[in-house]
Amino acid sequence: MMEKDIDISIVIPLLNEVDSLDELTDRVIDQLNKLHKKYEIIFIDDGSDDGSFEKLLEIKKNLENIRIIRFRKNFGKSAALAEGFLRAKGGYVITMDADLQDDPAEISNLIAKLDEGYDLISGWKRKRHDPITKTAPSKLFNFTTQLLTGIKIHDFNCGLKGYRSEVIKAIPVYGELHRYLPVLAHWQGFRVGEIEVEHHARKFGKTKFGFRRFFSGFFDLLTVLFITRYRQKPMHLFGFLGLVSLFIGSVISLYLSVLWFQGYGIGHRPLLFLGVLLIIVGVQSFSLGLIGDMLTSTKNENFKTPVKEEIN
Ligand code: UDP
Ligand code: MG
Repeated sequence: MMEKDIDISIVIPLLNEVDSLDELTDRVIDQLNKLHKKYEIIFIDDGSDDGSFEKLLEIKKNLENIRIIRFRKNFGKSAALAEGFLRAKGGYVITMDADLQDDPAEISNLIAKLDEGYDLISGWKRKRHDPITKTAPSKLFNFTTQLLTGIKIHDFNCGLKGYRSEVIKAIPVYGELHRYLPVLAHWQGFRVGEIEVEHHARKFGKTKFGFRRFFSGFFDLLTVLFITRYRQKPMHLFGFLGLVSLFIGSVISLYLSVLWFQGYGIGHRPLLFLGVLLIIVGVQSFSLGLIGDMLTSTKNENFKTPVKEEIN
């Protein structure tokens, strides 16, 4: 592709969405033409085997500004987004799902909001057209994430998001961390906002995320919380937990020791096991914090504080 200044990059990860691609491309381009901006559309084929890739080649034949990245196998939505981000040249980057559930008409709304000065705008599917088996757990997920991260966003997992290019160059996307991009961005000091977006029922194909997502989503939340809060100071978490456990364990043991000296038998008491357990766990947790801190202090050159600008 010719090197030229691009205003907007649309990044679309897809896995087996062959039936949606024609309509999707038409509607996205329709919207982009209305904006009179230079754009590129980057499709990331995340290991489709339903002819999606061939379809993309066919689409690209008649159109400029279409770029296709193809994975050899399915690596997941986060990996697909990360590759798209790596290649995106636009000053604004919009991500959307390929299944037509996200409405291309929202692109201009995302851009308008970014123009207001936000760094990341997340879509909020206020009225969702998904089965309850998805919407209910999703509510719980969003509530928990909001509570634990303190970010006032209703819909972390929305595929439709707009970013300033600085944001995507600054945040790491791996594993399944795509659900937490707003959290990672917020933590780096980027301005994160939200707009309500239209959402449609899936027309073709089926969802790629089953029940397993809730478990992985939970683990990812722990990872993100740890990365953002304690990455530089594991001791603050593990040391604290360790000391609390050690303290309670010691009090229990002390109490039982006093009883023992007074002549009571304590060998049969469940409390004894609890005390011993808490002491062991406490020491372990404390040591973990210490090792963590030693690791971060030797590996510190890998960690750079995100700098906004430097003026000399
Ligand atoms: N997707 C992907 N790789 C995957 C799973 C999904 O690229 O491993 C794409 C999928 O094709 C779609 C988007 O990610 O464009 C969202 O997936 P889906 O619609 O299945 O999720 P849901 O809307 O059910 O949450
Ligand atoms: Mg979908």
